[in-house]
Formats: sequence, C-alpha cells, structure tokens
Amino acid sequence: DTVGAMTSGGTESILLAVYTYREHARKERKMRGELELVAPTTVHPAFDKACHYFGVRLRKVDVGRGYLADVRAMRRAIGRRTIAIVASAPQYPHGVIDPIEDLGAMAAREGVPMHVDACVGGFVLPWVERVGRHLAPWAFRVPGVTSISADLHKYGYAAKGASLMMLRDASLQKYQAFSFNNWERGAYVNNTAQGTRSGGA
Ligand SMILES: *Cc1c(COP(=O)(O)O)cnc(C)c1O
Repeated sequence: DTVGAMTSGGTESILLAVYTYREHARKERKMRGELELVAPTTVHPAFDKACHYFGVRLRKVDVGRGYLADVRAMRRAIGRRTIAIVASAPQYPHGVIDPIEDLGAMAAREGVPMHVDACVGGFVLPWVERVGRHLAPWAFRVPGVTSISADLHKYGYAAKGASLMMLRDASLQKYQAFSFNNWERGAYVNNTAQGTRSGGA
C-alpha cells in the first residue's frame, strides 16, 4: 500500500517529510502553536533546514552508546506538540543504523509518526541482506515506520537530482500535496516542492 513521489534529492524528500507531518498535525491531529520534530543530534542538516523553512522546532536528542539514537531519551522528548520522530539508516556522521525497530515500537505506542532517513542506505541495505549479513528490520517491515526517504542519486547510481519520498499509507499523501483551487486556470496540485523539472535523472 506504500505510495511515493520522485523528488530532486534527499533534501527535497526531507523537506516534504517535515511538511507532510506538520500539515498532518495541524489538520488531522488539530495541533496548534509551535510544533516540534524530535530527532537525534546525528540527523542530516536537511532536517534543520526543513524545520527552519516550515516554522517547526527541531528538538535534538543526544545519542547514546555507539552514536546510536537513544530510545528512552527520544521517548522523553516527545510531548503534545510532537509532529513526528526521525531516525536514520544509517546516519551520515558515523555510518551507524539507529535502532529502528525499538524506535518504531516506541513511536507506535506514543501515537507519533516516524520518518526513517535512508537517503544513503536505501539502496545499500536491501543488498546487504541479500549477501547474507544479518540486518535488523529498518524499513516498512517495522510497523511504526510511516515514511522513508531514499536517494536514487547516491547508491541507486542515478544521475544527480533523483530521490524518493515514500509513505506507508496513501491517506498521508494529501498532507504532502500542495493544492490551490482558486486560480483562473483551475486547480493546481503538486505532490512535490518543484514545478516543472527534468525527467533526465
Ligand atoms: C545525502 C543525505 C541527505 C541529503 O540529501 P541531498 O541529496 O544531498 O539533498 C540526507 N540524509 C542523509 C543520511 C544523506 O546521506
């Protein structure tokens, strides 16, 4: 049932993730005031950028042993203004995979969506498993994971300008879309941040 959109890169996928959860929080969860995203300090700065653009406070949580996201500290950081939590598979600074299964279970218990940033890992990890290395589930097999970003222009070996933003549930897609219905030409709807763009990559 997963749906997704092609984007121009990891940054655009992440911008869309933060935008989607902010809209979801406002419209479906009726959350007001300054909303927050909870993430370990190791997440990519694209999340800082997205939060800056969309007026969301990024609540950074110190990592634990092995530079891994600290599940208990992440849980404690969740509050009534939390739109989603984020983890990485793997995170860029140290290359380690956050404990996605435990974080996903915790997010589901707390009733908070969870984005997995697999920008660098999305086109590596499936093959790591295939060559027989044990790998804990990190993607939609973990029930609490509600979205994933994965860059085709990294280990998908596409030309630069290609990434995926995927949602577990098609019902979230309306929050990712920008739709404007009051134009002289009629309706204008986009699922991504850009307008006209190249299909080359
Ligand atoms: C590369 C990367 C990004 C940002 O992607 P761009 O394609 O540079 O915009 C985000 N998160 C992780 C983990 C990355 O490796």
